[in-house]
Amino acid sequence: MISDIATLVEVIHDTTQQTRNRGMSSPSPIVTTATKECESVTQKPLPLSAKSAYFTLLLFGVVASPAAGLQGENLIRNPSVEVANPDDPEVPQYWFHASSGNNSHTFTYDTDGYKSPRSIKVNVSDYSSGFVFWSPYSVRVTGGRFYTFSAHVKGDVEAQTLIRNEWSLGTGYYGGGDTYSLKRAIPAGDWTKYTETFFVPAGVESVRIFFGVDAEGTFSSDNFSLVDTPYTTNPNRTPMVTIMADDVWLNFKSNAIPIMDQHGFKSTFYINTNAIGGTGMMTTQDLRYLREHGHEMAAHAVHHVNLRTLDIDSLHREIADSVAYLNQVLIGDDFVHSFATPLGGHNKVVDTALREHDFNGLGQSTFGSNRNTEGFFNYPENFQPLNVRTFMMKDTVTDAQFRDLLILARDHGLWLTLTYHQVKPITRPSGSTTTSTDQFRSQMQMISNLGIRVVTVSEGLKRFAKGE
Ligand SMILES: [Zn+2]
Repeated sequence: MISDIATLVEVIHDTTQQTRNRGMSSPSPIVTTATKECESVTQKPLPLSAKSAYFTLLLFGVVASPAAGLQGENLIRNPSVEVANPDDPEVPQYWFHASSGNNSHTFTYDTDGYKSPRSIKVNVSDYSSGFVFWSPYSVRVTGGRFYTFSAHVKGDVEAQTLIRNEWSLGTGYYGGGDTYSLKRAIPAGDWTKYTETFFVPAGVESVRIFFGVDAEGTFSSDNFSLVDTPYTTNPNRTPMVTIMADDVWLNFKSNAIPIMDQHGFKSTFYINTNAIGGTGMMTTQDLRYLREHGHEMAAHAVHHVNLRTLDIDSLHREIADSVAYLNQVLIGDDFVHSFATPLGGHNKVVDTALREHDFNGLGQSTFGSNRNTEGFFNYPENFQPLNVRTFMMKDTVTDAQFRDLLILARDHGLWLTLTYHQVKPITRPSGSTTTSTDQFRSQMQMISNLGIRVVTVSEGLKRFAKGE
């Protein structure tokens, strides 16, 4: 499953159908207003018209910075938000704000900045769903390179950073899109710096950054930066690829495993235990078979729910019951010690619960890792066991893009984890997390051709621990 929040900002036509395809619980029609490259157009959110389960997300003009920029140049215009929009003094120039879901919120173009007079703020109350964010206008980038986003942040609620890759600038952008989260920003009472490096796949012409809040509280930000970042690497480090399979889809076993077997690849399964044995899902026998053939079993909670939304007892039950079930039924004399949060939903409370959980039931921590839905590569300098980064596979990933990812991993000694869901024949890419059997075959062949080592999550963790 992909992040529910990420889904909100994907701009898709046939939203209801696609939503069903993704197994979301509520349809989310998304309204997009795309204004073609015209900086003088006032970009002001329209009133939300949809109600209840219907999310409305209004995205405005596609106005990119004029060039991809020189190395080290800050690509965000009006990065300290000091200049007001001449047509709307309540908003900084080249910035806009928008929201989705059910919540009460205010946006403030504040007069309390980081080492400067102005900053931007959101305040959210009565939160039940959605995302409330500020966003600079699209930034033109060069695909196939790393970029570092940073900002100074302050407040009492964690913030989410979403990056949307835009493959074709100024078209209003339908299809081929890809939105994913970077690590969350955890503010304090005074200004602190948030920084994160991410990879822009080849073919992407511009990126959009959404920086905001998906819970109740106040969040201020200022002093933004996006710079092209040459990644310096240790050439002695071994590149690795991990094939992750989420949500116990039977068609992964039927269609993907025979292809992996041809290459001798092993995967890590993230299992939401209540789905086992359901229609189109694997049974305990299927999982035991895979376990006996060298595939790794890891936990993905009991129910496929956002753990951030649960009370503390339910949160602990989701972790403990899924881990205990796998330990008893599947693992045998080994223990499960890795986890993936459903929908990527996590915060400090979830992170702490995972880190402190007694994974083997023996009173000693064997916590290995947690994977959310935040991208892209892992390498020792950025590695966080509580937030293993991943690339969410979709049917829109082309062979060329996939090959670029592999080559980056190979040339820079990175650990690339690929999160798959269903693998089955499809006729037309729709942006869903299903991968066609033909695509999957081609992807495994590319990994094999490039000679990149395929490891389970446990093997990857061990190699990182040994500094390999
Ligand atoms: Zn899932």
